[in-house]
Amino acid sequence: IDVVRDVEPRVADAIGAEVEDQRASLKLIASENYASPAVLLTMGNWFSDKYAEGTVGRRFYAGCRNVDTVEALAAEHARELFGAEHAYVQPHSGIDANLVAYWAILSQRVEGPALRRAGVRNVNDLTDGDWAELRRELGDQRLLGMSLDAGGHLTHGFRPNLSGKMFDQRSYGTDPGTGLLDYDALRATAREFRPLVLVAGYSAYPRLVNFRLMREIADEVGATLMVDMAHFAGLVAGKVLTGDFDPVPHAQIVTSTTHKSLRGPRGGLVLCDAELAEHVDRGCPMVLGGPLPHVMAAKAVALAEARRPEFRDYAQRVVDNARALAEGLLRRGVRLVTGGTDNHLVLLDVSGSGLTGRQAEAALLDSGVVTNRNAVPQDPNGAWYTSGVRIGTPALTTRGLGPAEMDEIADLITTVLAATAPTDPGTGRESRARYVLDPQARDAVAKRAADL
Ligand code: PLP
Repeated sequence: IDVVRDVEPRVADAIGAEVEDQRASLKLIASENYASPAVLLTMGNWFSDKYAEGTVGRRFYAGCRNVDTVEALAAEHARELFGAEHAYVQPHSGIDANLVAYWAILSQRVEGPALRRAGVRNVNDLTDGDWAELRRELGDQRLLGMSLDAGGHLTHGFRPNLSGKMFDQRSYGTDPGTGLLDYDALRATAREFRPLVLVAGYSAYPRLVNFRLMREIADEVGATLMVDMAHFAGLVAGKVLTGDFDPVPHAQIVTSTTHKSLRGPRGGLVLCDAELAEHVDRGCPMVLGGPLPHVMAAKAVALAEARRPEFRDYAQRVVDNARALAEGLLRRGVRLVTGGTDNHLVLLDVSGSGLTGRQAEAALLDSGVVTNRNAVPQDPNGAWYTSGVRIGTPALTTRGLGPAEMDEIADLITTVLAATAPTDPGTGRESRARYVLDPQARDAVAKRAADL
């Protein structure tokens, strides 16, 4: 850190403060984790200085033999860990991985047939007329994904994201009574809408998804099934999600981040069937520029870690801890969306405490408990204030906490919620952001959180 301090001490201070924050508070953000020292150190080295556009063995730059080694290793680990026919490890993030996947599907299903019709191999060889026709066709495609308030992600076709501008999008949701995915309603929507892409996967759904059923629905309407397993990739890697709940045997294409439950460096990856491989490998230059070799090297290390038997034990403990946390909260009267969890996350509905999600998130943060607010299904408070708080166990499980500590955390959370009140309930938008938190309760919880 002194090397950094010599150049810009404020950055060195911020790094030190971040380590302190992450040590002294309880990190319950469902999408975060603690990567191992091996992963962190692999990200900070000379690979960062190398350009390597292209794919392994086919680069547009000279001198890429070492990048070839780490990219091939990361892809091999990914294929073997997840049982996939092909792996592409260049995406810089989950958003990039999803864009690569969407364009791979469009390339296979729309561009490929257009090129064949025109009798050419490359888009550059299309006449202006055929090119204009292809662009219109690309713009006409439909995507069906999980609605945001049911737990879907912005990249699943929503307007603020490029995916929502590329595709004509429609959503499927959850049953208003149970909060569970309604496969019959989804099937009916798919039959009517006839999407090119059916997206499964979520950021805030606390239950399992049956990917065999999803594939059945996709096949019935001629859609390609894409699963975004960004959140639960660690549970797939750790063989907690198997059979119908493992997306890899069922979906034609699977995307993921590498930094959430998978516990690797920040980044993304794409797994796919052999028929999609050549389209996925065009991620650079379709969506990406030069890959990040230092991050691909760190992906190789993280995936090697995930292939060890200890990782299976870790993944099981993540789920056991989430269940213990959910039970502790339910016992203390907190309302949970779907009434519990089957995976690594729990979604609290805090409206019963008279709070918005934003107020609860802020009060918990003041008390050393780091979470994020999240909309609940049919949320009356919208996506900014929300009525929910999402919590997850991947990070604290890495730190070695178990079910007994989860029960204590349930107690800390309910203590904070009970000790917090909105300043001026129900009088307009700004007041919904303010709250008062009993200082004694806050200090007591913060001390217990730091001690855990
Ligand atoms: N997909 C899902 C399901 C996610 O939850 C997220 C991140 O929250 C992403 C994609 C995007 O990942 P990134 O932040 O790496 O772009």
